Amino acid sequence: MNPQSPGRRPTRTVMVGDVAIGSEHPIRVQSMINASLADPVAAAREVDALARAGCELVRVTTPSLSDVDRLREMRRELSRRSVRVPIVADVHFTPKVAFAVLEVVDKVRINPGNFADRKRWAVEHYSDGEYERELERVAEKFSPLVRRAKALGRALRIGSNHGSLSDRVLSRYGDTPLGMVESALEYGAVCRDEGFFDVVYSMKSSNPRVMIAAYRLLAERLDSQGKLGAPLHLGVTEAGRGIDGRIKSAVGIGSLIEEGLGDTVRVSLTEPSVNEIPVARQLAERAARTRCVSVPPPATGPPDEASDSFLRRGTGLPPVVELEAGHIGDQARGRIDSMVEQLSRASDLRCEGLIVDVFEQADIDRARSFAERLHGLDPDMVLRVRAELCWIPAVRKARLAPLLLLASRTPRYEIEKAVDLLGGELTAVEWSVEFESGLEEGGAVLAGLLDVLDRAGQSALVVGARSDAFAVSHRRLAHAVTRAGFEAEVALRHRGTWADPLAAVIHPAVDLGALLCDGIGTRVSTASGAQPLVDLDLLYRILQGARARMIRPEYISCPSCGRTQFDLESVTRKIQARTGHLQDVKIAIMGCIVNGPGEMADADFGYVGSGPGTVHLFVGRERVEAHVPEREAPDRLEALIRRTGRWRESTAAQA
Ligand code: SF4
Repeated sequence: MNPQSPGRRPTRTVMVGDVAIGSEHPIRVQSMINASLADPVAAAREVDALARAGCELVRVTTPSLSDVDRLREMRRELSRRSVRVPIVADVHFTPKVAFAVLEVVDKVRINPGNFADRKRWAVEHYSDGEYERELERVAEKFSPLVRRAKALGRALRIGSNHGSLSDRVLSRYGDTPLGMVESALEYGAVCRDEGFFDVVYSMKSSNPRVMIAAYRLLAERLDSQGKLGAPLHLGVTEAGRGIDGRIKSAVGIGSLIEEGLGDTVRVSLTEPSVNEIPVARQLAERAARTRCVSVPPPATGPPDEASDSFLRRGTGLPPVVELEAGHIGDQARGRIDSMVEQLSRASDLRCEGLIVDVFEQADIDRARSFAERLHGLDPDMVLRVRAELCWIPAVRKARLAPLLLLASRTPRYEIEKAVDLLGGELTAVEWSVEFESGLEEGGAVLAGLLDVLDRAGQSALVVGARSDAFAVSHRRLAHAVTRAGFEAEVALRHRGTWADPLAAVIHPAVDLGALLCDGIGTRVSTASGAQPLVDLDLLYRILQGARARMIRPEYISCPSCGRTQFDLESVTRKIQARTGHLQDVKIAIMGCIVNGPGEMADADFGYVGSGPGTVHLFVGRERVEAHVPEREAPDRLEALIRRTGRWRESTAAQA
């Protein structure tokens, strides 16, 4: 059994310098410096700061041959500072640089979309023979690097990026997770032919759903090749900044770690590189309690990017956002007043349902008057009353929406009695099944419930779980109800309090995001002990991070990277301040013209550094304004959004 985590996918071990990567070893944390190699001492200073913060491998961009000597100088400076962290060179478009820099670093990352290819779109369709000849050309260009890496004992990373695939791969597989995987495996085949196995793979995208699908597929393909597969480097690229960047990273990287995938991680934030390390560490540390490997997504097909219908079967509506108010006993009046006051200020963060717990008749009376106050705020807001089965008659009499708790030992005859008492109102009830840590008892209660409902002629239900194994229990629910032919809504009722503010974001984002990305979850709620507006804000951000419900613009912005042509963090802040009130618009803010247009993937608008002090503006993939002076660029971007009809005035401005 793997001592690091019993759920990790077994892989080979790849050494990068003296750091071992693979399933026998802890998940390694890495980052990339922002400083350019033009100043090797500044670059070394940033590497040093990263290593002190807990970064175990550091990547450096090396655009040109002159960077090889500068990298040597940087390493000398690192030796003077006694910093021993392995260095990885990032290479795009320049096989010569990859070959030369291999002498100086511990690992080289190449992008299979641009190592041997340029974007030309000269050929739209490749016959099998032409495709084969293209692969021979790739092997010819790539194998010298592989042979040299083998001779020097260096590692390679084959890193596909969504949006930066070769014309050849695009023509056959499209810009899809399958295309990303095929693109990497073309290069992987060359490594195998050369008997070289010190390879790590990555499949990055700014869209967590795309990267999750690509990594899953890649792991399956690598593991089907016999022997132990290669380790995986996980990342959501261009995740943005602040809480949203952390959430998007947690949703993508955390989902895969929950499944036992991933051996090294990089969190890509538009912030100083050291800020990435605590986020990456928290995600890596979750691997120690991974339990989810054996439960794949339910057989509802992969999430469809163009539609949210998979999220709420039968209605096509996105998940409902609810809050938990806990027990509203006699002492809770002040808390209720403050909750009503906060919800009255919630503006675009709509609370669509509130859940209270009842234990006695007096609680039900209090719930009734609470419901009336909520109705005054928003007539559509529902108050759900969570109770044990014995309170059903009282809850129904008060005309409140019941959420029934099924404890792990609820016997079948009690469920039958509840169904009897509810009469024809079965669809208006949410059943919450308690999954104990062993998960077996909860499964048995669920099976009993489904059987009773089936006999009662019921085919639709809302069901949730209470369990510390959050993802596993909800995946089991989703599987069981779809297998049993139920038209189910699965409610995700998250609970937990964390003293550390970062943990309070990361853990709910992983638990909820992993399920939402797989189309599981029609209602989401949380009970974190925080203020209601804080919880609401977090839920909406997680839904947005998982692309399940978009109420704000989506920003795709570069992380720390030595190729950037402007101060990404301040420019991103400026653009966010102007456009933060827009809805359902994706804006990419990319540091360089070399990779920016490719890596901005499915953005509606692009702001791409084209040279010192200048920017190109894009609508989708089309460049519409070139070399705009940087000081004018935010205004011109706004004008562009207005011209395309995607602008709306902010309500604050209107007031
Ligand atoms: S697009 Fe951004 S992250 Fe990618 S190479 Fe250019 S500056 Fe770096």
